Amino acid sequence: MLDQAERIFAAPRRYQNFIAGQFTDSEGGILSRESPAHGRVVSHYPKSTRTDAEVAIAAARSSFESGAWAFAYGGDRARVLRAVAEALRRNADELSLIETLETSKPLAASKGEVLFAAELWDYAAGAARTLHGDSHNTLGEAMLGLVLREPIGVVGIITPWNFPLLILSERLPFALAAGCSVVVKPSEFTSGTALMLGHYLKEAGLPDGVCNIIAGIGDPVGQVILDSDDVDMVAFTGSTRVGRAAIAASAGNIKKLSLELGGKSPSVVFADCDLDAAVDGVIKAATINMGECCIAGSRLLVEARIAETFQNRLAERVQQLRMGDPLDPSSRIGAIINQAQFDRIAASVRDGIREGARIVFGGAPENHSGLYYPPTVLADVTPGMAVAQQEIFGPVLAVMSFNDLDEAIRLANDSDYGLAAYVWTNDLSKALSCSRRIRAGRVWVNSALQGYPELPLGGFKQSGNGRETGRYGIEEYTELKSVHLHIGSQTERWVDGA
Ligand code: NDP
Repeated sequence: MLDQAERIFAAPRRYQNFIAGQFTDSEGGILSRESPAHGRVVSHYPKSTRTDAEVAIAAARSSFESGAWAFAYGGDRARVLRAVAEALRRNADELSLIETLETSKPLAASKGEVLFAAELWDYAAGAARTLHGDSHNTLGEAMLGLVLREPIGVVGIITPWNFPLLILSERLPFALAAGCSVVVKPSEFTSGTALMLGHYLKEAGLPDGVCNIIAGIGDPVGQVILDSDDVDMVAFTGSTRVGRAAIAASAGNIKKLSLELGGKSPSVVFADCDLDAAVDGVIKAATINMGECCIAGSRLLVEARIAETFQNRLAERVQQLRMGDPLDPSSRIGAIINQAQFDRIAASVRDGIREGARIVFGGAPENHSGLYYPPTVLADVTPGMAVAQQEIFGPVLAVMSFNDLDEAIRLANDSDYGLAAYVWTNDLSKALSCSRRIRAGRVWVNSALQGYPELPLGGFKQSGNGRETGRYGIEEYTELKSVHLHIGSQTERWVDGA
């Protein structure tokens, strides 16, 4: 893998947009991406213009109106999606390397994400065949009611930099399985694997124009998608700030939105839990993807009577996490995505200390070179502090304690966000109470972050709306239509005497 990385450093990869079935450059020029861990240019993407975005949307619209995909047999859609799943598996090593060079996440994590993305494409292929409407034959002898489930139309998918292929694969195959046409805008920092997908879709036989993938900057490219009257739905993943812009822009043509925004998810640890498993799970939830993860467990709520022991074990274990070159198989923590994000993390930790938090482990990024931010545990945090409320998007864990179940749940829900929660207990009734009373889209009990294509994901409160993946995910990309079908001769008359 190191050889291949060296080859990319020597000759950065050049990607093209995928519009109306053609691979094209942009008159806007190119965007170059440096590997955050190595400071070397690894990718050149098109810096698409407003016109590129408009052409991509027009291609999606016209493919949708043609009905070639929207009315295609589900089995034919499934074949295309399955072929993409196979292509992802076949090219997993290359895709993982691109993902690691562009994001700086450890190679093993990239590989896991690529293989999970393939599972999502496979699952969506199955769903393309089983998606169906409904019928009502209880409306009287002369009436049959049909409920048709139709594709919603043209969908814009705008994705962030943290899980480039994975987040796209939680959405794109489901929209395609439903029969939609799509315009994808990946992050300007990590567009490589999304642009690779265009080749797999073309080879798989997807009709031209059904999926268009364009790289570029949020404004104009993403903004054109948000504003367009030819786009019927936008699936957006990213910051709450742009999520709000999406809501404002959706008013233009009342487009549907599916939003996955920020999070400040709690890990709730009760004294009766398996301590070793909980320590490990809490660290994993807080530091996965360098904490640049919307479902990161960035708040630890620990039962007061074990708080000190737990904190000590946490500090001991977290030191053993290996931070370093993401190409080194032993690294668990790579570099932060860019300088701006690194500075935001450092500023949040400094603010926390100013407000009274205490560093138990980590902080001091100045002791490391480059964009490596060490896993950081902050104790003496109180619920009102910014580090307890605001998403940091770095490997920073804010520790608080509670005395009983009700207080744990109150603290867990004391957030504008509601994306995920982690609960560690061997008491079934506490586990169930937390699962039911914590307001979050996903709850892991005695486990952390395992994903399954069958289960839906999404947020409560300001973490967004809509659900992706599972049968619920595919339904998001559909509209229901009722057909009232009269049988036999129609004897009722509106006009008297007619
Ligand atoms: P953004 O919301 O800015 O970016 C997400 C996507 O939206 C990117 O593709 C971005 O383009 C695009 N975008 C930016 N501006 C617009 C616009 N006006 N109209 C349409 N699309 C637009 O998030 P960032 O990547 O800047 O991250 C900032 C913060 O967001 C993080 O610190 C974190 O708190 C949160 N975040 C949450 C994520 C999640 O998974 N829920 C994922 C990533 C970030 P461009 O490529 O130009 O940036």
